[in-house]
Amino acid sequence: MSNEARDWAEVAAETAREAAVAVRSLDLSGKVALVTGGNRGIGLAAAAGLAAAGASVALWGRDHTRNTSAADLLEDLAAAPIFADRVDVADPTAVRSGFERLVAELGRVDCVFANAGIAEHAASFLDITDDSRDRVLQTNLLGAWSTVGAAVSHMVDRHERGDPGGSIVVNGSLATARGLSGGEHYAAAKAGLGALVRGVAAGYGRYGVRANMVCPGYIERDGMPGRFASKLAERGPVPRYGRPAEIAGIVVYLASEAAAYHNGDTITVDGGWSINVK
Ligand code: NDP
Repeated sequence: MSNEARDWAEVAAETAREAAVAVRSLDLSGKVALVTGGNRGIGLAAAAGLAAAGASVALWGRDHTRNTSAADLLEDLAAAPIFADRVDVADPTAVRSGFERLVAELGRVDCVFANAGIAEHAASFLDITDDSRDRVLQTNLLGAWSTVGAAVSHMVDRHERGDPGGSIVVNGSLATARGLSGGEHYAAAKAGLGALVRGVAAGYGRYGVRANMVCPGYIERDGMPGRFASKLAERGPVPRYGRPAEIAGIVVYLASEAAAYHNGDTITVDGGWSINVK
């Protein structure tokens, strides 16, 4: 065998071995994940996906009863512990103490899905009240800001103790890059999340911390078809609403070591809605 062929064989064997390890690392056994807004919808689906992939999962929401019921559901899927906690992400102090309780309970945090969010719409920009603007920005932007801040601080500390690694995923929206008349507060919050995540990705990759944004398209809320059903049926390449479970896979992938080189990205999961020029 020539040197060139031997080199090829070595490189090919190494590539194949590493690819197999990377894909097996979609198994999240031993990792701890936090999902904010994990008691219903996309957050619950992501929490269930992370638990099914082997992670220990903490879920946050404001409704204690729903948190507890969601945790019971996850326990049926999970081999690792599940921890539900009542945390309002709009309150930075609550986020800090919630994060401390989480580390005390589950020992560490490897992945965070900052998903908690609210949607409010007005007839136009000028109809958005100051209260609505503040609620939406406080929850969707500053809530994720506090959550990501607590996570990055924890992950950098771990890195300095010789235990690097961490994945941050924020839940964006198609509104990050489009005009949403009457939803400027929502769109501004989601666009701000994009800026936040890219800054964190650029600044903390060297600490083993990756940060990415997922932008779901139109996803059913609480299993109910919504008001865009006919629009989606008419011009959606996949002509229907997405389901919360259809966001779970990308969150599991981004949480895993299979995504070790995936950083600073915005990933759209919308059935092709955004690319359709029809
Ligand atoms: P749901 O209304 O079904 O779920 C929202 C979740 O966020 C609930 O678990 C809720 O729990 C929690 N939440 C809301 N406010 C707070 C808060 N202040 N503190 C902690 N938890 C909070 O929404 P979806 O699943 O549809 O949406 C989830 C995320 O996905 C949002 O960020 C949304 O913007 C985004 N998204 C949704 C799309 C869709 O089509 N559905 C499309 C694109 C993005 P609780 O009420 O108990 O606090």
